[in-house]
Amino acid sequence: MGGLVAVTHDLKCIRCATSLRGASVKGTCPECAMPTMRSLAETLDMPSQRLARPAHPVRLAYALQAMALGTLVWTIATIAPLSGRVAAAVVGAAPSDAIKLADQWAAAIAFIGALLVAVGFFQLARRDDRVLACEMGRAGRWMVFGGGMWVVGCAIHFVAFAFRLEATVGMAAPGISFACLAVEIIGGSIAAIGVRRVLGVLGQRCRRYRVAAHAQQSTEALAIAAALFLVTALAARILPSLGYEMLALSASVVAITSAAVLTLGVLYLVANCWWIARALVAPPPALSTVVHVRRDEDPGESIN
Ligand SMILES: [Zn+2]
Repeated sequence: MGGLVAVTHDLKCIRCATSLRGASVKGTCPECAMPTMRSLAETLDMPSQRLARPAHPVRLAYALQAMALGTLVWTIATIAPLSGRVAAAVVGAAPSDAIKLADQWAAAIAFIGALLVAVGFFQLARRDDRVLACEMGRAGRWMVFGGGMWVVGCAIHFVAFAFRLEATVGMAAPGISFACLAVEIIGGSIAAIGVRRVLGVLGQRCRRYRVAAHAQQSTEALAIAAALFLVTALAARILPSLGYEMLALSASVVAITSAAVLTLGVLYLVANCWWIARALVAPPPALSTVVHVRRDEDPGESIN
């Protein structure tokens, strides 16, 4: 005599959220007629079931969120003042004291963002979870090395603005800014190699991340957009003094466009990290806790 496979867990219909407890796996939702099997397949997320559960899911989730939030804070604090200056140059406005003060604040906020990123990198790079450490390979080293460069670049940038270092070392402020920004972007690009691997490994445990598969290219796209922004923003500042007004204007347009691409990319990274963090903290239930095979003649007894 064949058994009836029934839902014994509080499984919800994926269309109308009705509880399917007690329903047959072969049946449909009593409210909306969605096949129970589809709700089951989506909730269980079978591809993630064969993967090891991380030993420290909450720590990983916080680390991902710190990395993503820090990157967003750094990006906005870095792009906003430079884009503002580029835009001001396009309309022919002279830099005011307000802009100089905004630069100082932006350097401080970017430094805080980079610190947040570094904390996330450091936590993600910890190797006390043997299975994950094995899956991630050398990703942690890339993140710690690149993240270190990123923080050092931001720290020098912040100190240069806070203590007006440009006057001491006899270097123009944009020179220091752009040199630091170059270090930060190279560091970020090195770290991105590790981030890509980490997102790939942890993202396998998140259905939504796997479905939105374009994420694999986003870290390279971010590094390219950041580099393009750096070069064109620098060109937009330097070219007018050399007499290339039109070229400077084109550089400004490219700088603002790449800044927009970079911001969008970072927002996408934040969304990805949030999805993965949620999937890590609340992983899908195991099959054995959701369904039980019930013998028709003895509904009370169950075998897995
Ligand atoms: Zn339903």
